Amino acid sequence: MRKRVIAGNWKMNKTANEVKKFVESIREKVPASEKVEAIVCAPFPYLAKLVEDTANTNIKVAAQNMHFEDSGAFTGEVSPVMLKDIGVTHVIIGHSERREFFAETDNTVNQKTKAAHHHGLVPIVCVGESLEQREADETVQHVRNQVTEALKGLSEEEVSQTIIAYEPIWAIGTGKTASSEDANEVCREIRQVVKELTSEDAAEKVIIQYGGSVKPATIDELLSQSDVDGALVGGASLEADSFLSLVEAGT
Ligand code: PGA
Repeated sequence: MRKRVIAGNWKMNKTANEVKKFVESIREKVPASEKVEAIVCAPFPYLAKLVEDTANTNIKVAAQNMHFEDSGAFTGEVSPVMLKDIGVTHVIIGHSERREFFAETDNTVNQKTKAAHHHGLVPIVCVGESLEQREADETVQHVRNQVTEALKGLSEEEVSQTIIAYEPIWAIGTGKTASSEDANEVCREIRQVVKELTSEDAAEKVIIQYGGSVKPATIDELLSQSDVDGALVGGASLEADSFLSLVEAGT
């Protein structure tokens, strides 16, 4: 039985005071469940304090990006060594906004995914098609390629410990959610690719999330699908109550 993983991706939002209030309101309320894992993916300046403030709770802390090198002359970048050093456990890699606005490519996604595993961070690797690709019936091929490129050179164990987030670009922040059947179809396809690349065992273990306008009202149906193991949520993760109800849906 795979765990459900609900990750809130705050993107470039919140002040320090808002983060403090958010944590105060969810700290005691996130259930200590074997079934669900709750992750907050916060901007870099808040990570260290968040790790401290969520100690001994069922809340994990993730970064939204990182560089693949350990250290060096890369002004403005943050390395996996630094994230690990402050107690971050997960990192989003290759979000479509980074691919679109910050020149992230399948190759850098692959290097970052490898670096995350190398340093014991769990990568949440994002894949997903544009509206044009969906309309041209290229969704499956595109997502298959992205997954294959992202996982290149990883061991079977590393693959099984990767989280893959299927996020159709046209559904992100638009209020349009893929139907749960459509979401499941692509998530099943991703599991199939993982099986072809590694083994049935790794495919059974890998956590596959759906993301794109997920809300408390839509999460139950998504989670009832065979191959959707959780959600990567932007807008609806910003309010504590809404985030909590998403997490509770996973229990
Ligand atoms: P959204 O964002 O829930 O606001 O659509 C999801 C994401 O980009 O991870």
